[in-house]
Amino acid sequence: MNTSVFQTPIDYLKGTGTARAEVLKKDLGIFTFEDLLRHFPFKYIDRTRFYKIRDIQPELPHVQVIARLTHKEILGEKHTKRLVAQVQDDTGVMELAWFQGIKWVEKSLIVGKAYIIFGKPGSFNGKAQMAHPELEQYSPEILKRKGNLTLQPAYNSTEKLKQFSLDSKGLQKLVAGLLEQHAKDIHENLPLYLRQKFKLIDRADAYRQIHFPESPEQLYEAEHRLKFEELFFIQLKLLRNKLLRTHKFKGNIFEKVGDYFNTFYQHKIPFPLTNAQKRVLKEIRIDTQRGVQMNRLLQGDVGSGKTVVALMSMLLAIDNGFQTCMMAPTEILANQHYASLKSLVGDDFVEIALLTGSTPKKARKVLHEQLASGQLKILIGTHALIEDAVQFQNLGFVVIDEQHRFGVEQRAKLWRKSVIPPHVLVMTATPIPRTLAMTLYGDLDVSVIDELPAGRKPIETKHFYESQRLVMFGFMRQQIALGRQVYVVYPLIQESEKLDLKNLEDGANTLSYEFPLPEYRISIVHGKLSATEKDFEMQRFVKGETQIMVATTVIEVGVNVPNASVMIIENAERFGLSQLHQLRGRVGRGAEQSYCILMSSQKLSREGKVRLETMVRTNNGFEISEIDLQLRGPGNIEGTQQSGVLDLKLANLATDQELLLQARKAVEDIFAQDPQLALPENQVLQLAFQVKNAGLSWDKIS
Ligand code: ADP
Ligand code: MG
Repeated sequence: MNTSVFQTPIDYLKGTGTARAEVLKKDLGIFTFEDLLRHFPFKYIDRTRFYKIRDIQPELPHVQVIARLTHKEILGEKHTKRLVAQVQDDTGVMELAWFQGIKWVEKSLIVGKAYIIFGKPGSFNGKAQMAHPELEQYSPEILKRKGNLTLQPAYNSTEKLKQFSLDSKGLQKLVAGLLEQHAKDIHENLPLYLRQKFKLIDRADAYRQIHFPESPEQLYEAEHRLKFEELFFIQLKLLRNKLLRTHKFKGNIFEKVGDYFNTFYQHKIPFPLTNAQKRVLKEIRIDTQRGVQMNRLLQGDVGSGKTVVALMSMLLAIDNGFQTCMMAPTEILANQHYASLKSLVGDDFVEIALLTGSTPKKARKVLHEQLASGQLKILIGTHALIEDAVQFQNLGFVVIDEQHRFGVEQRAKLWRKSVIPPHVLVMTATPIPRTLAMTLYGDLDVSVIDELPAGRKPIETKHFYESQRLVMFGFMRQQIALGRQVYVVYPLIQESEKLDLKNLEDGANTLSYEFPLPEYRISIVHGKLSATEKDFEMQRFVKGETQIMVATTVIEVGVNVPNASVMIIENAERFGLSQLHQLRGRVGRGAEQSYCILMSSQKLSREGKVRLETMVRTNNGFEISEIDLQLRGPGNIEGTQQSGVLDLKLANLATDQELLLQARKAVEDIFAQDPQLALPENQVLQLAFQVKNAGLSWDKIS
């Protein structure tokens, strides 16, 4: 198989000298033939229609006319120098103008000849005009030769590239040349039966048609094929990794349910588990008996009770003689987990310790010893856990909270702390859309807690405009009179940190005026405070000494105050949906009816409106995450940016859900039948893996 042609440096392509190649590399990241072939058009311009000069409106994005050149002339001096020409058809006259490349264009224009003229129309002194149009001499043959080429590709270019004549048109020529020479070297990488089943066109055709579609149908076919391929190979890789892992890594077997688990379940747990929690525990129990390493994603809405499931899984591990740990992305969150696990298990039950960046050296040393001796059973912490100095006697179970903030590499580091890799349970903070989960965590099994603990009253959410602020204050007074506590949260966006802080300070001032001492007390927490100050203020609120907590989003994760039943979010339009949902999840943890009030300015963007309306309409985090994906696209969902998995060139996880499900299903079916990819019809897929092992990424060409 010819894998090398497309790896040829772009310098060697006909039409690119060293200078052009350098700019292609620098400005567009095009280093090889392959990169150029995968520099897809960002849009297509319809060239089916020919306009009459009379019908040209300056508002039209592009027009194409056939007209005869009647005059040309170079005007002006030096920097006012320009080439002006006149063309005419049977309906009117239009002026063409050039400000660059004047000499060269002037020479090529022949008065009396007819041209196909294409460009963005404008007007000058009330006359139709076009600057820097594309020109081609007209002849009936040329129209015929163009056939039904109707969609002209438009490529991203840069100012610098344009200086090297590599504007959209110039790039088009390069791509055309490359395809002419090497389309035959684009090898099919999907088995025929798949192509038939999913109606996918041939790969080389797809590349040809995506650059130069002759009709909208051809463009659709090409995109469809290439998107499928893109999604298919990601899934192939994920599911193959999963398969390999299952074969390669033995897993610790948790044979029994022992004293720790049973004592907790029978005597300590303060509530009955929901059916969903029980189901997930059962799934974990089954996983940990199979002798294969578990890698499971636990999804559940805010407040659905993931923590207790994690704890009970850890107790199961301890019952079988293993140590466990839980890793959280921030120190606040690690502290919070530590506190809630401690309070769940009570005193003198099982050894739990906390390890973060702020753990003093001395204490650290003690921890290290207790870990090495196996005395310490549960360790909670931040990424401090993965440091080399942290050595377990026998780590058997790992919980990773909000894993999307950790890299895959960090996950793997934890594994290596044990000869047989520990079972891994990954928890997300808020639900993520199905397609995103399938791509980001596609190599994991998934458990879902889709039920909230009984007796929870759904949080009531209201949207108030600035003009209704006094109503909101009235509501706060009423709730505080009932003995409740209130959060008031301000957005914190890094670029304008100063401004945000001022917002918060102004807000706090207004509040202290509206809610004066001694009747009311206010805690204020923001990023500029030291950890001690923050903690002090938080504790006052936790203990009920203050009724109002004014904060930036530092409280987003990690605060649990059941008596706080009102969440007020200022400038709510500036928050993303998942953040709003997570903030709202801070209330509704006690027995009382809880409220979330979204304050916004009068003026809202369309998207801002959808976000706030969604929040008012539903409490369902899964539904909210889907809408978030539709609104913002996959690249902007929190935590996905650093993930290369989502570096999709064509497919879009928001709009191509159906296609992803098809691709996933196709891969599952293949592995179910032929896990080794040994069947002759699957040879092309096997090859794709070999290409990958040769160091080429095989979601690409070759
Ligand atoms: P999350 O899934 O957001 O991490 P938590 O585990 O923090 O949720 O649980 C939220 C609150 O619900 C905690 O106060 C927890 O003690 C409580 N909780 C968990 N499970 C149940 C249950 N089955 N019944 C009642 N309360 C529960
Ligand atoms: Mg939690």
